[in-house]
Amino acid sequence: MQIDNRNETSQLNMVFWTGAGLSAESGVPTFRGENGLWHPSNNIRYSQVSSLGTDLAECMAFHNQRRRAILRVFPSRAHYLITELQQRYNVKIITQNIDDLHERAGSHSVIYLHGSIQFVVPKGFRHPKYRLSWYKNINVGDRCPRTVAQLRPDIILFGETIYGYQQARRWLCEADIVVVIGTSLLVEPAHSLLGNINPMAKVYYINPEPRLSSHLPFPGEQVVEGANSGMASLLDEISNGW
Ligand code: NAD
Repeated sequence: MQIDNRNETSQLNMVFWTGAGLSAESGVPTFRGENGLWHPSNNIRYSQVSSLGTDLAECMAFHNQRRRAILRVFPSRAHYLITELQQRYNVKIITQNIDDLHERAGSHSVIYLHGSIQFVVPKGFRHPKYRLSWYKNINVGDRCPRTVAQLRPDIILFGETIYGYQQARRWLCEADIVVVIGTSLLVEPAHSLLGNINPMAKVYYINPEPRLSSHLPFPGEQVVEGANSGMASLLDEISNGW
């Protein structure tokens, strides 16, 4: 693979915006779609903040299963290609994913808009200063040593505010190139946040779903491929010079 290393190119600000489709290539199910986590069961209710009060044990069990599934998989080729680009260009990553596959692939500068399943926070204290790394199941009765409140996954449930909004907005405003991979673009406020992309930026959407263009938040070129092959095509385009 040949990458354009001209000085002016290495100053480019690139932002990768990633969603569940990227990690689908690692074997993590998406939410929507044929094998999505919300089909055919009614797991969607465990993504509502109210379920921490009404169905705590079931909610923990659902997220424990998701944590175990993520721990079993490995970063995909596309995760590694992003890391490779980060070694050459000014690359920032904004992810809707709650897995840690970007970091396991060696990437840095990642905003986890929806939190991370590898962390827990005490109920009622969802703030980075209370965050603990957590790789086992969370059970009812597991308590924060500082606040004594029940622990819960540090992921955003419907009804809660996202992390890193202002920083993500700044990165998008300053971007020369934005690559959006594997998101249905249906989740708010993430979808609207993409409306802040620098109007001069070149934008790519990598997604095998051809009908995505009906709800693009920002005009761009759609690469109708899976994340791995789409990233490889993008790198070809980089090698040929933008
Ligand atoms: P989504 O489930 O709504 O949409 C997934 C998108 O990925 C679809 O548009 C689909 O066409 C596309 N896709 C499927 N296979 C792909 C592939 N091989 N390569 C590229 N794209 C592919 O996901 P979303 O838009 O990210 O929103 C769901 C929310 O649910 C996320 O924000 C996240 O919080 C959570 N979630 C996270 C994970 C994870 O961390 N891995 C997994 C499922 C859901």
